[in-house]
Amino acid sequence: MSKRIIILGAGLSGLSAAYHLQNGCCVYEQEDEAGGLARSDKINGFTFDYDGHLLHFKTEYVKKLTQRLLPGLFVAHNRNSWVFSHNVFTKYPFQANTYGLPPEVVKKCILGMFDAASKKKLPEGVNLAQWMLHNFGEGITRHFMYPYNYKFWTLPPEKLIPDWTERYVPHVNLKTVLTGAFSLKTKPLGYNSVFWYPKAGGINRIAKALAENVNNIKTGHKMNALDLKNKKIFFENGSSAKFTDLVLTTPLKQLQNLIKDKLPKEVKQAFSGLKYVSIFNLNLGIQRENISDKHWIYFPEDKFCFFRVGFPTNFSKGVAPCKTSSLYAEVSYSKFRQIDKKKIAASIETDLVKAGILNPGDKILTRHINDIKYGYVIYDKLYRYNIKIINDYLLKNNIYSAGRFGRWKYMSMEDVILDGKLISDFIKKR
Ligand SMILES: Cc1cc2nc3c(=O)[nH]c(=O)nc-3n(C[C@H](O)[C@H](O)[C@H](O)COP(=O)(O)OP(=O)(O)OC[C@H]3O[C@@H](n4cnc5c(N)ncnc54)[C@H](O)[C@@H]3O)c2cc1C
Repeated sequence: MSKRIIILGAGLSGLSAAYHLQNGCCVYEQEDEAGGLARSDKINGFTFDYDGHLLHFKTEYVKKLTQRLLPGLFVAHNRNSWVFSHNVFTKYPFQANTYGLPPEVVKKCILGMFDAASKKKLPEGVNLAQWMLHNFGEGITRHFMYPYNYKFWTLPPEKLIPDWTERYVPHVNLKTVLTGAFSLKTKPLGYNSVFWYPKAGGINRIAKALAENVNNIKTGHKMNALDLKNKKIFFENGSSAKFTDLVLTTPLKQLQNLIKDKLPKEVKQAFSGLKYVSIFNLNLGIQRENISDKHWIYFPEDKFCFFRVGFPTNFSKGVAPCKTSSLYAEVSYSKFRQIDKKKIAASIETDLVKAGILNPGDKILTRHINDIKYGYVIYDKLYRYNIKIINDYLLKNNIYSAGRFGRWKYMSMEDVILDGKLISDFIKKR
């Protein structure tokens, strides 16, 4: 039987899978355009991404692919990001840069790090709170790691596991902590110390370029049922499609209600156990030049409703009209910590004034909201168990999950582009 390969979802992972399969497939997407989370909207002369989106390259492969698709478009920037706490700005990452904080806070961070540095190997099976204490000691944990992660993940770190930290949270040694306690002279740390952004247009340029190289994208096709026995997908618009192989880049969690076959009890339970954080993203266009000299700022304290605020006009002047600035503010929420969606945008603006980012008299030219349902997957204690059960079940049915919410994993744009390639290589060899 000849292969009928279907890719569900035209985000970067689905587009990359199709691109690398050299079009021997069909891509179905619920929205009117491809790009998924890596899209941008142009409104009143402002280009707003679906929340802050910056490219980081860890592989030559994706760097070269991007350069081949969009020659000369992406510009490298050295990160200029900060943390705002105790009413002062400290350089990011907090653990390496406590210079400027009140002396008693700096002292606690240093003493805690002495403690952490004397500890032996990290025991297996620790939770996120234990992981922080082990690696950074009490001061850094108390003044940044714990409150920031609680605010971000909406669950106490004791209920989470540190599986996602390796790439995203830079480790520090005692020498770095001491250097950063007394000066601004620490070296840039972490995966995002350099980032790339288009000099014209928004982050959607990369998805658009990939989509231009993919022939068979059917937009306006929202899957609303999946028949595994007969290998058939049903769409909300009344159409359907048969497959031999299905690459699923749409959120795993959706499947619990879409699969029509009777699910084994443990698979059903595993689907129910998947947890996620949503992101309420407010973008503002402001009639004032240079509202900040920073790229983005982290806010660990609860007195600000957002956990991060970024300034796209500092990534590229092309994203806003002359003599204006733009910013994005991000608030996370979930079923564990809900927000009042009618009031949250106003609270963000109030807190932007409180943080000294907006002036009370600033004229807001444009407000644009992206309410992102699936923002980050939550790594709780049953995470690994649930994912294994679901993946085993899907694989038995020739369904290959890919991408950030197909794999249900903390993945960057580069990761999902690579993942699309990986899945296409796997299917080609089958
Ligand atoms: C707030 C936030 C900030 C981020 N910042 C960065 C960053 O700075 N740098 C970085 O590298 N990465 C960042 N990321 C991660 C990056 O956005 C993702 O890794 C990447 O875009 C995911 O691509 P994907 O194809 O796996 O998933 P998605 O982009 O989610 O694509 C899935 C596609 O499936 C479609 N779909 C869903 N359900 C259905 C259905 N039932 N039927 C048909 N189609 C459906 C969706 O419309 C979507 O187009 C960020 C993510 C978030 C949420």
